Amino acid sequence: MTALVWYRNDLRTLFHSPLSAALKNHESVKALYILSEGQWDIHDVAPVRRWYVLHSLRELGQSLAAMGVTLDVVVANTFSEVGAQLERYVIANKITTIYCNREYPLNEIQRDRDVATRLSALDVSIQGFDDGMVVPPKVLKTNQGGHYTIFTPYKRKWLQYLIDEPQQSFKVSSTGADKSTASFSCEVLDNAIRNNVVPEALTRHWTPGESAAQSMLASFIESRKIEGYQQQRDFPAIDGTSMLSTALSAGTISAHQCVQMAKQCSGVSEAQQGVQTWISELCWRDFYRQVMANHSRLAKGEPFRPETRFIQWSRDVGEFNTWCEGRTGYPLVDAAMRQLVATGWMHNRLRMVVAMFLTKQLFIDWRWGETFFMRHLIDGDFAANNGGWQWSASTGTDAVPYFRVFNPVRQGQRFDPDGVFIKQWVPELAHLSKKFIHEPWKSPESVSDYPTPIVSLVGVKENVERAFRAARDLAKTELI
Ligand SMILES: Cc1cc2nc3c(=O)[nH]c(=O)nc-3n(C[C@H](O)[C@H](O)[C@H](O)COP(=O)(O)OP(=O)(O)OC[C@H]3O[C@@H](n4cnc5c(N)ncnc54)[C@H](O)[C@@H]3O)c2cc1C
Repeated sequence: MTALVWYRNDLRTLFHSPLSAALKNHESVKALYILSEGQWDIHDVAPVRRWYVLHSLRELGQSLAAMGVTLDVVVANTFSEVGAQLERYVIANKITTIYCNREYPLNEIQRDRDVATRLSALDVSIQGFDDGMVVPPKVLKTNQGGHYTIFTPYKRKWLQYLIDEPQQSFKVSSTGADKSTASFSCEVLDNAIRNNVVPEALTRHWTPGESAAQSMLASFIESRKIEGYQQQRDFPAIDGTSMLSTALSAGTISAHQCVQMAKQCSGVSEAQQGVQTWISELCWRDFYRQVMANHSRLAKGEPFRPETRFIQWSRDVGEFNTWCEGRTGYPLVDAAMRQLVATGWMHNRLRMVVAMFLTKQLFIDWRWGETFFMRHLIDGDFAANNGGWQWSASTGTDAVPYFRVFNPVRQGQRFDPDGVFIKQWVPELAHLSKKFIHEPWKSPESVSDYPTPIVSLVGVKENVERAFRAARDLAKTELI
């Protein structure tokens, strides 16, 4: 009677309900990760994210070994092969029950339906959990019984839920065995790591695995960085955010644990605002996940607001490439894009600025930007990325109104006033004073190796309004 913990985007041992339940209910427990690199290709998963996942798996294998649980890694190139592969594994290892965390995007749901059908024929039961979110996706309902599409009332209900139904502090801990001496070796994983070549210049910014994620959380809370979060989180030159998005999206840390630890320090009055704002960001993460879970068409590239399907986006490849390469002539946009390509990560304020620049100033289809982000982000997360892009493009649920357009110059003056961040990533402008760093074209000093702006900021709002109005008119006739 062996139980199986099927790992997906939850590569940890702590705060992990499936592992907890399996160890509680069964004497013999195995763990499995199904490596689907072909699916990663289909989902545009960035090489640096693959690197993070593969190396995190290695640490997971070792931690599990110390608990007496063997982690196997098998290959099923795409999700369509997962069912058959799992079936073989279950039969070979006499598995009676599978424990796993649910995933909410459409392809993952279809994969799990296929698995459920095959395994029920073998009399193998599956127990699903929702550790991927703080509050499971179907639990919170509006007064009319629907799912939330507006953040503020969702957050109100979400916070109330945390008070009414405090999460149990499930915490699987080591069985006492020494992790450093526990041995884990896996040829499949070694091969995958060898074949996934990522430049050291990119990976040196990151440490994969659960232990590093735990240390980052502890340092964010214990160094009291969280207290200043509310004031500092919008300034990209300041190390003012948790940097936990990679760990959260690969599941090397649990969002439950983040909320629990943050709440523990919210008793300190000066910490209150920082803690509340940070918990609010974790709520945004849940919000977009429940939107994804309840509106599967989002996984088909559709905008949330149907009328915005009719927008005639620009398909200017030249301008798009300029944006990708950080050569738009707008320093904050360029610095941000270069940070993304060089490190696999971008500050949240900048994600909004560059996404809005692409979709409003250049009026290029948000899906192009969404894909480019996925191909580079180490924290690439379908729901958060799609949510962030549709927010910026004004096509999404509870999105920024289409007539609100960020001005990249003013955003720079406000959130990088001295140009410290810009100078780090756009060294061609390092000699400019604070007065000209955001508008180098006005500088009397030479900036000959930096491009002039590819697009004017004048008339952008009017152009966007016109295009959205035209789409709305078209939708009136087409959607009847
Ligand atoms: C266009 C766009 C694309 C984005 N793509 C992604 C993505 O692929 N993966 C991703 O994890 N986040 C994405 N975000 C959200 C946000 O930018 C990152 O989560 C954040 O910058 C990560 O930094 P941090 O861990 O220091 O966050 P903190 O400020 O410390 O926040 C804590 C956690 O809350 C969550 N969070 C914060 N802001 C958001 C948000 N707006 N939406 C959803 N969750 C949030 C993240 O899990 C984050 O780690 C995107 C935002 C935009 C505007």
